[in-house]
Order: sequence, then structure tokens, then C-alpha cells
Amino acid sequence: MGRIVKLSKAVIAEIFTSIQGEGLYAGQKQVFVRFAGCDLGCSYCDEPAAKRAGKELPLSAIRKAIRKMVLTERVRAVSFTGGEPLLQHSALLKLALYAKSLGLEVHLETNGTRYKELAEVIGAVDVVAADIKLPGTSGKALWAEHKKFLASAGSKAFIKTVVTSETSLAEFRKAVELAAEASAFIPFFIQPVTPTGRLKPPGRARLDVFYQIASEKLKAVRVLPQLHKLWKIK
Ligand code: SF4
Repeated sequence: MGRIVKLSKAVIAEIFTSIQGEGLYAGQKQVFVRFAGCDLGCSYCDEPAAKRAGKELPLSAIRKAIRKMVLTERVRAVSFTGGEPLLQHSALLKLALYAKSLGLEVHLETNGTRYKELAEVIGAVDVVAADIKLPGTSGKALWAEHKKFLASAGSKAFIKTVVTSETSLAEFRKAVELAAEASAFIPFFIQPVTPTGRLKPPGRARLDVFYQIASEKLKAVRVLPQLHKLWKIK
């Protein structure tokens, strides 16, 4: 991130409530705490602001914002998202413990590579929404990092893999193999990219091929686009 943050602070892009639009908990109302800063540069990134900008906030102010939203909107879950929240894992741990003390279910949305930092916080997290990034979209192979990450997340994890009309079957197959090594029962979401720039989602026939490859090794495969983008909400 190139920036030293005091331990009692975190660099946050935004805090808001919305309906979860991705993965296993799609449709659930949640508080979202979006950490600023990311260590990857995915071609489809829908949160460029989270990668660049952010405001240094005292943890006390973030706690206060979470508590206020929980009290006024009766939300039962909080998602720590980004950017990449594990880049600020000390602050994340403190905030996750606070959320648990309020009785909230704690979700972590992550690029699924920072396995050492995950080990520090996993005790305070209930659900890990882990991406498996394909080299064709993230620009680098992260298989070894993903493998260690999924081992550390254990049964708390579900997986999302973003596919485009150009995603190679070989890369997708490798992601499926990695997921199956973690568990044949791990929920696996094939997420067609939300159109952006020159990136387009795969057509129906190609999606069927992805589904077929995934379901040969995995028991819980779903195709789900980003619903919040379809709804035009945050
Ligand atoms: S990991 Fe997420 S926030 Fe970071 S560049 Fe990729 S899509 Fe964007």
C-alpha cells in the first residue's frame, strides 16, 4: 500500500449497508466495510476506487458506524471487503472481534492469496468468500497462494471464479482442481464477468462447458453473475 497506518486506524474506502450480490449469501442484507488498497490488478476490477483511494479512520469511528447501521437497519451480518482487507489484517481482526461481540456473522471477501494474514484472523471470521484468480484476468499465476489460502480457510470458505468470453479452459480446469483438492463439497461459484471495457461474459454454450468441467469434480457448482450490478445498487 506504500503507506504506514497507525495500529488504531484503518484505511477505508466506504462503509454502507446493501444487499449482498455475490456468492453463497446473495440476497442477504449486510453492512459492508470496504478496505482501501489492493495488491492485485485484475482486468475486470469493479472497485478501482477501493484500490487507489481511502480515508484513514480511527477504529473507534468504524465501530461506531457499524453499530449505528446494525441498530437502525437490523442487519445481522457484516462483510469486510475491498480492495483487499487482509492487507490491513491487524485492524481487520479488531473490527471482526467487535462485530462478533455485537452478535454479527462476520464475512471476509478476499482475493484469496494472503494465507499468512488469513491465519491471524480466521478465528474471528465465520465465512470466507475467496476468489480464485485466473492468470488470464489477474495477470499472474497465483495457484500456490490460493492452495495455501484454501487450506487455511477450511470449511469456512466458498469460492468465486470470474470468467470472461476469453477465459481459457485449461486455466478454469486448474481452478476446479485446486478447489477439489480443498474439498469436493466446497461451494464453487462461476461468476460471469460484468461487462466492462472490452471484457464480455461467456455465452450460454461456453458457460455450459465451464459448468460441466466444474461439476465433474465438485458437488456444489453454481453460475451466478453480480446481482448488485444488475440491480444497479452498490
Ligand atoms: S483483487 Fe479485487 S479489488 Fe483487487 S484488483 Fe482484483 S478485483 Fe480489484
